[in-house]
Amino acid sequence: MGRKIGSRYTAHQILGRGSAGTVWLGEGPEGPVAIKLLREDLASDQELVGRFVQERTALLSLDHPRVVGVHDLVVDGNDLALVMDLVRGTDLRTRLERERRLAPEAAVAIVADVADALAAAHAAGIVHRDVKPENVLLDMQGPLGPGGAHPALLTDFGVAKLIDSPRRTRATKIIGTPDYLAPEIIEGLPPRAAVDIYALATVLYELLAGFTPFGGGHPGAVLRRHVTETVVPLPGIPEELWQLMVQCLAKAPASRLRASELGARLREQLPLLAGMPPLDVDEPEAEPAEESYEEAAPESREKPPRRGAVPLVPGAAPADANRDTHTSMRVPAPDELAGGARGTARAPRAPGAARPGSARHRAATRRRRITLGVAGVALAAAVGVGAWYATSGDESSPSGPSGPSGPSAPANGNSAPPVP
Ligand code: ADP
Repeated sequence: MGRKIGSRYTAHQILGRGSAGTVWLGEGPEGPVAIKLLREDLASDQELVGRFVQERTALLSLDHPRVVGVHDLVVDGNDLALVMDLVRGTDLRTRLERERRLAPEAAVAIVADVADALAAAHAAGIVHRDVKPENVLLDMQGPLGPGGAHPALLTDFGVAKLIDSPRRTRATKIIGTPDYLAPEIIEGLPPRAAVDIYALATVLYELLAGFTPFGGGHPGAVLRRHVTETVVPLPGIPEELWQLMVQCLAKAPASRLRASELGARLREQLPLLAGMPPLDVDEPEAEPAEESYEEAAPESREKPPRRGAVPLVPGAAPADANRDTHTSMRVPAPDELAGGARGTARAPRAPGAARPGSARHRAATRRRRITLGVAGVALAAAVGVGAWYATSGDESSPSGPSGPSGPSAPANGNSAPPVP
């Protein structure tokens, strides 16, 4: 006997826990499903429930083999649940932690699948906004593709925007997963399709290198690097593949490829990558992340969560979450964004020590919850980050559909249906 979710679904056993709630293996009228039961504090927020229901059409309409489909949204008493396709497998973060680096062929095949998913979403006017390995599920029952990669599916559409509403967070906080945040978001522009491309290129880099291009250390330093630093070539990476990545990690959103083109170009690379072993990459010099995170809540030191994870809402650390994947950061100081505070970013690393943010470091420390102080709104305005915050949670912000967009290239057809 399982737990009833609405009149049509039964939740049987927990598959995993995430930042927004718990995912259950369930049963519906059409067979097995995955049911994401949202956290109580989210489910009890009437305004959020209203928006959720209002946006259901956009979420339910996204039908693509590389997207984890949402079948139903259930509002039942205190329960708010997303009923999804059941993917029998694991998420990409788990695979990456196991293998540390993926062979280029497998990495590219997985990322090409996600690019296809994004192409469908962007064409429908939906921007994901939280592309990262945690949100890519690998279907272990699907056919093996190039490099032995299982089919990859993108999940959690709309959830970032759902949680990231102005009322849920203080105006001095930045919400997002810093390692994957496109520079234009940090500079205060509304998130359009090109932010997903930047995040996906970051994921590809991470699959190949074992660490993200700008991650590690203080979250403010990570943001600054997104804006000011360029990526360093990975040793041994085929030039064409590298050029693709560089283009998609371009600071200017208009310079990045569209999702459909990225998917196609990545697939062209696959024959050239066949049989290539994982790259032999040295971890870069580390940052003194530990010093930066001294304010971590004591309980988090006992049970560190994943990458730079912190409570989404002040004081609302979910008791059931072992996977907070968003980061709530204090607004960085101007010198951190301007490149002055090098000490927060690139201090020498002790011999043998893992680079914070790398898979090795994560495995060693199992992450800690960061609770950082909040600076003032005035400071946010000064560095231009407050503007990003204001737009990121703005439900009326149109999301550009397909392709790059930016200040100089307004997205064509900005009439994207908002997603929750
Ligand atoms: P996060 O908040 O970290 O993105 P989720 O809440 O989406 O995590 O998912 C938590 C875990 O539940 C995942 O790691 C995965 O193992 C499992 N899971 C999520 N969605 C599905 C699904 N549609 N089918 C099967 N398992 C899923």
